[in-house]
Amino acid sequence: MKSINQLLKEGVVLGDGGYLIELERRGYVDSGSGRERVGTGKGSGQFTPEVTLENPDALRELHREFLRAGSQVLQALTFFGTREKLNRAGYGAQTEAINGAAVRIAREVANGKALVAGSVSRTQLVEREGMESLAKARGHIAEQIRLLKSAGVDFLILETFFHLAEMKVALECAAANGLPAVATMSFRPLITQCTDGHTPEECARVMADLGAIAVGANCEQDPQRMLTVLRNMRSAVQVPLAAQPTAFRSTDQCHSFTRQPAFPDDLETIQVSRRDFEEFAKSARTEGIGYIGGCCGCNAAYIRALADGLAERT
Ligand SMILES: [Zn+2]
Repeated sequence: MKSINQLLKEGVVLGDGGYLIELERRGYVDSGSGRERVGTGKGSGQFTPEVTLENPDALRELHREFLRAGSQVLQALTFFGTREKLNRAGYGAQTEAINGAAVRIAREVANGKALVAGSVSRTQLVEREGMESLAKARGHIAEQIRLLKSAGVDFLILETFFHLAEMKVALECAAANGLPAVATMSFRPLITQCTDGHTPEECARVMADLGAIAVGANCEQDPQRMLTVLRNMRSAVQVPLAAQPTAFRSTDQCHSFTRQPAFPDDLETIQVSRRDFEEFAKSARTEGIGYIGGCCGCNAAYIRALADGLAERT
């Protein structure tokens, strides 16, 4: 299997889709909406990846579907897998086991036909406790990246960071472990700046300077709206762009789907069609996108649409 750097050199790399929302829809992940308001970052641990231990077959099946759709990368389901987030969900003591099992399961399904990426996201400490908690966040992110490294991931996808300051911490931890990293910020409520006030251009520049092999955006916006962010980033950096849009619509007043009233229990009412993903993939090369996948709301049908779009381009 070629390395991620090699694949990026050769063409547009097709990633996979969104695991947690899909597994929530299938009944294997807790959204938390039964007990609290979801999407604030202050919750008790909703959308955590304990399915890796509790229902590994459900996770295996979803990996298989993405692989069959054409994914060249399978993300280990380690999103929201820091000890900090798992503690609040009641799974802190299983932090090592959850991260280890997620990588093992992804590797087993990939079986040499896809790379395995460790997914690392924000801790949510910064949202709850402010910037003073950044040192604590660093400890948790460093621990998770060490676990992913020893479990044998090929590279990291640092994703769904709201604060550039926390993304910088993650990139430093990735570099300290010698792991290549794709880095994508999430912008909410508007695409003009991230939560700690940096434009997409600034985010792209900082992430590239810290060694990210591809920089971009994931989650919150559908392909069409995300394109504005990506074009801004394109103007600032030389490295390939990475894009993992959601399959959910947002509005001109609020650009993030997790701030829509439909999140998380009525998402079907704001679902974007897979055709939009096919069109998005057709424009990937001309837009400078080197890594393309999907985030929340993207099951295998959406990844197949991306694959079709990439193949159709002339
Ligand atoms: Zn997402």
